[in-house]
Amino acid sequence: MSFKNFQFHPAITAGITACGYTAPTPIQKNAIPPILAGRDILGLAQTGTGKTAAFTLPLLQRLLTGPRRKVRALIVAPTRELAEQIHDNIGRMGKETGLSSIVLYGGVGKGPQMKTLAAGVEIVVACPGRLLDLLQDKALTLKDVEVLVLDEADHMFDKGFLPDIRRIIKLLPAKRQSLVFSATMPKEIRHLAEELLVNPATVQIDHNLPAPTISHVLFQVATAEKTSLLKHLVQDPEITSALVFTRTKHKAKSLAVHLEKAGFRAACLQGNLSQQKRQQALDGFRDGTFRILVATDIAARGIDVLGISHVINYDVPDTAETYTHRTGRTGRATRSGQALTFADREDGKMIALIERNLGRRMEREKAPVCAPGTEEERSEAVREGSPRHLPAARKPRSSSNQKGRSRACAFDFGMRKSGRR
Ligand code: AMP
Repeated sequence: MSFKNFQFHPAITAGITACGYTAPTPIQKNAIPPILAGRDILGLAQTGTGKTAAFTLPLLQRLLTGPRRKVRALIVAPTRELAEQIHDNIGRMGKETGLSSIVLYGGVGKGPQMKTLAAGVEIVVACPGRLLDLLQDKALTLKDVEVLVLDEADHMFDKGFLPDIRRIIKLLPAKRQSLVFSATMPKEIRHLAEELLVNPATVQIDHNLPAPTISHVLFQVATAEKTSLLKHLVQDPEITSALVFTRTKHKAKSLAVHLEKAGFRAACLQGNLSQQKRQQALDGFRDGTFRILVATDIAARGIDVLGISHVINYDVPDTAETYTHRTGRTGRATRSGQALTFADREDGKMIALIERNLGRRMEREKAPVCAPGTEEERSEAVREGSPRHLPAARKPRSSSNQKGRSRACAFDFGMRKSGRR
């Protein structure tokens, strides 16, 4: 199937070509026709499937006819990064259409946003809080909205945004087209979808499975040895761009600092950063200034960086679905990627769940360098609540000392009884 089948306006076709898309992805194939026909949609699709273009392209087509300088489409996203990414996609795909969009989120001044709104835009991409704020200021009205898109609805719920969403919906005209996208379908989202959607077409794309282009590798490593392993692995030039996930904000920060001190171009992305710092980290990761970005799950939601070669789970995620979200950052669309997961003995249960979800075993690799952690790493592991299995602390080793050191430190989940810990 080709994009020609959708008979988009030449201005939109120019945008598709400029983005370098040659064929629609499965979610685009399935969602674009009903959206073009004006139907409501419930899209079950993970990040990385091309869902942004799946709703943006038909939206642009619709807005090409009809009044200008009125807010006719509202897209609500749970994070600034996702909102920016959608706005960016609209800019690229809609470049030739003459339509304008604005992105609204908090943490930055309202003045410029109000000025652009006053000049008139057709598309608003917004996070719920700032949108409500500006609505209260009467900086915009939603009375002309023809299309509502809720993106990453499950994440809206995670972040406690559903009451805000319901407040926003009350301000929309009853007659409109509504599109809801979510990677998972907790009951709260099902209820919201039932309230919001009229006779929707459901489009489901393997929402529980990571993209098939990703390969999955498991390193079985003690907590105190993870940093040494990470430093060893990222020396590999094949790792051109790595997104590293940690469980806590504190760890994301300290690990990025540690990597930087060790000479790697690394930055961190976690909730305590100012908007300016977050943007700097993201822009730097996107343009290659930083080769490694250490992030928490919440902060990394919605990141759209093409060409992430490796996702590294420094800490095993809390759920199999989080594993899908994380690993969806690599292997986006048709590119291939690798997911490397560091797990210690206590992670065995979660690994089993992830593998059940994947439908296959991850490839086991022995940690090639297993220098016991430094004093700093050891005490960090204790702080993070993993005081067991720690080898005696050592002074930091010089890299020449580490070279050639290859002590097998893997333990096989499911092969060895857990024993006394
Ligand atoms: P999304 O799921 O919307 O975050 O998109 C994931 C990535 O796939 C983004 O980097 C898009 O630019 C890219 N993408 C979307 N549609 C296509 C397509 N038809 N062909 C190739 N890449 C695409």
